Amino acid sequence: MIEDKHQERTPLSSLGEFGLIDHLTKHFEIKQDSSVKGIGDDAAVLDFKDDKVVVSTDLLVEGVHFDLSYMPLKHLGYKAVIVNLSDIYAMNAEATQVTISVAVSNRFPLEALEEVYAGIQLAAKLYNVDVIGGDTTSSTTGLLISVTAIGKAKEDMLSYRDGAKPNDLLVVTGDLGGAYMGLQVLEREKEVFKVNPNNQPDLDAYTYIVERQLKPEARKDIVTLLENLEVKPTSMIDISDGLSSEVLHLCKQSNVGCNLYEDKIPLDPQVISTCEEFKIDSTMVALSGGEDYELLFTIKQEDYPKIKANPNLTVIGHMTEKNEGANLITRAETKIPLKAQGWNSLAND
Ligand code: ADP
Ligand code: MG
Repeated sequence: MIEDKHQERTPLSSLGEFGLIDHLTKHFEIKQDSSVKGIGDDAAVLDFKDDKVVVSTDLLVEGVHFDLSYMPLKHLGYKAVIVNLSDIYAMNAEATQVTISVAVSNRFPLEALEEVYAGIQLAAKLYNVDVIGGDTTSSTTGLLISVTAIGKAKEDMLSYRDGAKPNDLLVVTGDLGGAYMGLQVLEREKEVFKVNPNNQPDLDAYTYIVERQLKPEARKDIVTLLENLEVKPTSMIDISDGLSSEVLHLCKQSNVGCNLYEDKIPLDPQVISTCEEFKIDSTMVALSGGEDYELLFTIKQEDYPKIKANPNLTVIGHMTEKNEGANLITRAETKIPLKAQGWNSLAND
């Protein structure tokens, strides 16, 4: 897992800034009709005709958001794009372009940046977005990557965080907690490796959750699915910080309360078994573990028949009047107020 694949180490300084940008981006294709001008001029030019434009940015910092001792560089490039696309899909919009900015120290050779860009290119291809620009500069310490994602939607299709109403159903896609448990497994292997570098980790029992951490996907498919089902979410958000803080965002911004049912939270069997092994409560992991990049949304009760048969969608609760508060209804049927604990607080337990 922890290996140095880079036999050759071409110093970045040997290319110069323009040579470097050209080298990294020369294979990028422009496919979207809305991309009028991509990389190569002072600015990109876009044309969205009658659509509304959505824009979102994330900044990823080495040592804060990722650890290169177990995060392969190609996965890092891929994930940097995915986490941004997820924000576009959370508006019920289609992602169309990204810009990529990197700050890199001279500890990274050209071959390392090539890996990062291979991941970026793969994500751009699979999610059908154009890379239309960015910036490249040096850093005195680690690696920083900032991605800006751009997307489009018809005005009446956009889903905001503030549209939920009492009695709306609360729906989540996929399953939760996998990315956090994948991180726990990787952190454990890193400690083992420090003690005995010859120890080859056996991650076979954890492939799903490790992949959820290292190679997350964004739910582009859900935007298409909802359109096909003719369901427009009344509110929507993506799950980057953990279910409870995202539910609280929807409640606060929509001025409603909610009842979330513990026994309805979707968990993969590998998350359940790994939680047992690590002696962590799987509900806590789903509520507070981050980085699953699933979508959380509300729908009108009358739309329930349209979604109920879909294996990608799980109804986990319903919205209430604001004065009832945001609650978790436990398996023992006790009502406890939801708390916004990010995964950092979990890690300190
Ligand atoms: P400027 O000096 O105006 O900032 P640059 O020389 O930085 O221009 O960029 C030249 C072109 O290359 C621009 O189209 C810019 O968007 C693009 N670009 C620069 N860095 C990157 C990068 N890391 N990834 C993708 N495109 C980039
Ligand atoms: Mg520049």
